[in-house]
Amino acid sequence: MAQASRLVKPETQQLVHLTVLRTERLSPHWMRVTLGGGEVERFRPMGYDQWFRIFLPLGGDEGLERLPAKANKLFGYLKYLRIPDGVRPVMRNYTLRAFRPATANTGAEIDVDFVLHGSVADGTAGPASRWAETCTPGESVVIIDEGLAFNPERGVDRVVLVADETGLPAVAGICAALPAGASGLAIVEVPSAGDALEFPHPAGVTVRWIVREHGVKPGTPALQALKDAALPDAPFHAYLVGEQALPTDGRRHLVGERGLAKDLVSFCGYWRTGAASPAPKSQRLAAEARS
Ligand SMILES: Cc1cc2nc3c(=O)[nH]c(=O)nc-3n(C[C@H](O)[C@H](O)[C@H](O)COP(=O)(O)OP(=O)(O)OC[C@H]3O[C@@H](n4cnc5c(N)ncnc54)[C@H](O)[C@@H]3O)c2cc1C
Repeated sequence: MAQASRLVKPETQQLVHLTVLRTERLSPHWMRVTLGGGEVERFRPMGYDQWFRIFLPLGGDEGLERLPAKANKLFGYLKYLRIPDGVRPVMRNYTLRAFRPATANTGAEIDVDFVLHGSVADGTAGPASRWAETCTPGESVVIIDEGLAFNPERGVDRVVLVADETGLPAVAGICAALPAGASGLAIVEVPSAGDALEFPHPAGVTVRWIVREHGVKPGTPALQALKDAALPDAPFHAYLVGEQALPTDGRRHLVGERGLAKDLVSFCGYWRTGAASPAPKSQRLAAEARS
């Protein structure tokens, strides 16, 4: 993962084997994949923007069976890299969009909303986007819980939430977890009007949708909307996620020009234009260890 503020760690970070239960095309750029079965009972929902590493079986189930414990940490990651090319699962970062506990008739379920970017047809889609668009019920995945980037200790009563489409699941999760009396502003940028998937939020939180025009760099309209916005009186807890420039420039604006204290900003670069999934610290360290 790219540069990020202090994270709230989960209780455990064991490998959790899951199965695709179903998929649903929600809109032009959204695919919901519902996971369950397997070891879903091991998963502990924390609310807010809980996210996880997800390992996708692009080389078949053999790669998932060979995943080492702690594949998200340096030594585990080095072992993960020893799984041969073509068998090694692809690792990406995604957000818990919803968790439904087990009932008398069904097991617990996890929804993950994947942005579909690029195109499967012409080969420009990233591996995770391609997988989400084409996966079928019964396929296996593995996840490792990573906890929260939205640190509730920085405040839950007054918030400013800013995201491109990849952060929509996180903003929706945060709004679902905020107290009913919370107030503030959520700015969410999406690639088309049909992708503005409404979500419940406290009455005092205004949700502003920004539809990006074709050809505009993702994140720039949301950043501009933040710069133009009348913000609540400080102190408030700001949360910025999306294409790398959005959280870094947004944080600089809030701290430098709006006078917000640095430790009231939770931020995380979710992806970077022109580069495959941002390298987590363990990946960078592993690359250095091998060079
Ligand atoms: C903590 C965290 C939580 C996240 N949660 C979600 C989530 O819930 N849903 C979600 O959809 N994404 C989420 N993301 C972002 C997601 O991990 C990235 O978009 C990831 O790069 C997608 O992987 P890929 O294999 O499809 O593409 P990659 O192989 O990583 O990239 C291939 C190419 O596609 C480009 N690319 C990657 N993502 C996008 C995009 N969204 N739009 C346009 N071009 C892109 C890259 O710049 C690169 O050129 C999250 C990221 C983090 C760090």
